Amino acid sequence: MLLALLAVVPLILDRVHLTETNRVERIQTAYAEVVTVAHRARDAQIETIEAARALMQVVARAYVATAASSSDCASFLWGFVSDAPWVTSLSVVGPDGRISCSTRRQVIGLDLSDRDYVNDVQRTRHYVLSDYLLERSYEKSTVLMAFPIVRPGVAEVDVLLAPIDLHWLARLGQGVESRAGMAAYLIDGKGTVLAGVQSRERLVGRHFGDHPLVKTVQAQPDGTATLEGFDGVRRIYGYTSLPGTDARIVVGFAEREVVGKIDRDSGIAYLHVAFFGLLTVMAAWMVGEHLIVEPIRALARTATRIGQGDLKVRTDPGSWAPEFAPLASALADMADRLATRERELRSVNEHLEELASIDALSGLANRRSFDARLAAEWHQAAEAGHTVGLLMVDVDHFKLFNDSYGHVQGDACLRQIGRVLTAVADGPSDFAARWGGEEFVLLLPGAGLDRAVAIAERLRLAVMALRIRNEGAPCGTITVSVGVTAHVPAADSRPQRLIEAADTALYAAKRRGRNTTVIDRDIPLAEAG
Ligand code: GH3
Ligand code: MG
Ligand code: MG
Repeated sequence: MLLALLAVVPLILDRVHLTETNRVERIQTAYAEVVTVAHRARDAQIETIEAARALMQVVARAYVATAASSSDCASFLWGFVSDAPWVTSLSVVGPDGRISCSTRRQVIGLDLSDRDYVNDVQRTRHYVLSDYLLERSYEKSTVLMAFPIVRPGVAEVDVLLAPIDLHWLARLGQGVESRAGMAAYLIDGKGTVLAGVQSRERLVGRHFGDHPLVKTVQAQPDGTATLEGFDGVRRIYGYTSLPGTDARIVVGFAEREVVGKIDRDSGIAYLHVAFFGLLTVMAAWMVGEHLIVEPIRALARTATRIGQGDLKVRTDPGSWAPEFAPLASALADMADRLATRERELRSVNEHLEELASIDALSGLANRRSFDARLAAEWHQAAEAGHTVGLLMVDVDHFKLFNDSYGHVQGDACLRQIGRVLTAVADGPSDFAARWGGEEFVLLLPGAGLDRAVAIAERLRLAVMALRIRNEGAPCGTITVSVGVTAHVPAADSRPQRLIEAADTALYAAKRRGRNTTVIDRDIPLAEAG
């Protein structure tokens, strides 16, 4: 998953960077657009004024040539007004400052001698543009153009006066795709709104000298700004000045409209990125889980079970990546080898166990395993209340046999006697052992004295029947003496007691001349002592 993240994070960051760059670019584009609209408005205004000036020039010339002598000055002026829709009326101001002739009859005789624009024209003989004036009756802002009517050879100057309608402002929205929340204002140098488009409130004529928007746009002739407008709506504003005036054309797009759309697009882009990232990480997790984690877990489980001794367990690589197959087969090999090694060890152990409990010469049980067996049978008999019989056997005059025939023959003789002992011990739990040297024992669990004596006699006669020569012995052949005993173990008695009793009986048999069977119980006290 970390690797997947390492791969995906740079892509996501790149996407985020792109989205952010795009956002900034789109906001800049919106700024450029408002500025363009503001400039277009300014250009339209300049064009209108230029057209008006050209018209005034024509009117002034024509007036000098004809109208001055004509009695109907007004109808002369009307001819021009009807041609130029943006000129609402035409008036002529005489040298005395009063309107002498006009297309608007009600203003004839009006004294304009105190107006700067009239005085300026009379003094400079150049055309003058008034400040923006608000015609409150129409809530329309106008600018007055005053043009000198200069007659050759005459000192006084008449002034041709025309209010120019700022109809261009109404056309401002044209060419700009209609945007909700768009606003456009014409604001004079003092902060009065002279005209406005698409403004919800009636703002024309209101004074906003202290408004941050007015202060901002008046600080520079051109620029952009984002702030709250007169109606409290935050907009991206572009503004520009009208040449030769302090007025500003201000165009604004609602920030929420512009940024909201961009933010929506960015949000969708981020959603895509988040979805892509999540999908990649999930895919990495699923693939990693299936391809790597699952096989490793299964192999680990197998290794643990092998460690716990379950050597038959195997993993099936099935649909795993092929890289895991060698690991699975290595584990299987390991388990196989461990199983083989375990079998070998078990058989070696069994063999060692046998070696440790068997007397090498006779093939009978040795003294060690006899002691263990005696203890177990003694304990069992004590619990069950059974008798335990014991025969202690010693070869008679065996030293003489060794002396006469050698040690190797002695060994062979001992082996033969061992075989006889095994043959006479016919009970299922009878247990023959070599006690040491030329002495043997036969444990008879469950046997009473009668059976023990019978077996002892069978043994003694069977050895005699072997007819192994022993020339040093009085009878000339190999014989054995047998001590017999049988006891029901008392609760607190030890098995040693049984051995001592059999040994005492054997000792008595030796003393009675050998080749005989003696029961411990039959020994008179004086003899046993
Ligand atoms: P007794 O009738 O009083 O038992 O006389 P004995 O000669 O058998 O008794 P003794 O204890 O004097 O001698 C036992 C002999 O058994 C001595 C020893 O050389 C012999 N012997 C003991 N173990 C072995 C053995 O493993 N192989 C051989 N060949 N001889 C053994
Ligand atoms: Mg002996
Ligand atoms: Mg002996």
